[in-house]
Amino acid sequence: MKALFIVDVQNDFLPGGALPAPRGNQIINEINRIMDQFDLVLASRDWHPGDSKHFERWPPHCVRNTLGAAYPDELDAGKIEKDFLKGTGNMDDGYSAFEATTDDLDDYLRKRNIKELYLAGLTTEYCVKSTALDAIRKGYKTYVIANATAGVEAQPGDEQKAYHEMDIAGVKIINTL
Ligand SMILES: [Zn+2]
Repeated sequence: MKALFIVDVQNDFLPGGALPAPRGNQIINEINRIMDQFDLVLASRDWHPGDSKHFERWPPHCVRNTLGAAYPDELDAGKIEKDFLKGTGNMDDGYSAFEATTDDLDDYLRKRNIKELYLAGLTTEYCVKSTALDAIRKGYKTYVIANATAGVEAQPGDEQKAYHEMDIAGVKIINTL
């Protein structure tokens, strides 16, 4: 069984948001288009308290229950069976979806007999990469769908470096047809 896992497609990570991936809005149609190709569609969201220590490093973003933390209207969020909230504590960064606190993602995937995890979303260098590396460590066959993923690219080349790191760890980098 294979699952599409949509990482952090939230208003604050899109152009106009608090911590935008410059091409973030360009991946949403592709994510919508491929959802039906999977047995299960899941997502994570950054869901920070307003006083998170995470905001010592980053501009405040995805504060829980705000518009910035919501799914963008363009995303077909009705097809997401479950979302996993992370970064929910004020001392926790929660880059990886496996650090979600609302449910144990690994446990959930095993119960649903998911062996293959296809990642898409935001952002390549941080939450997508952390989730992909955790997925590999936990034994999932792990793919990142590059044309449905976007980076922050704080420094030029950051996204490429992240792909290289994932590739070395055994993550398959693919594009949809
Ligand atoms: Zn965050």
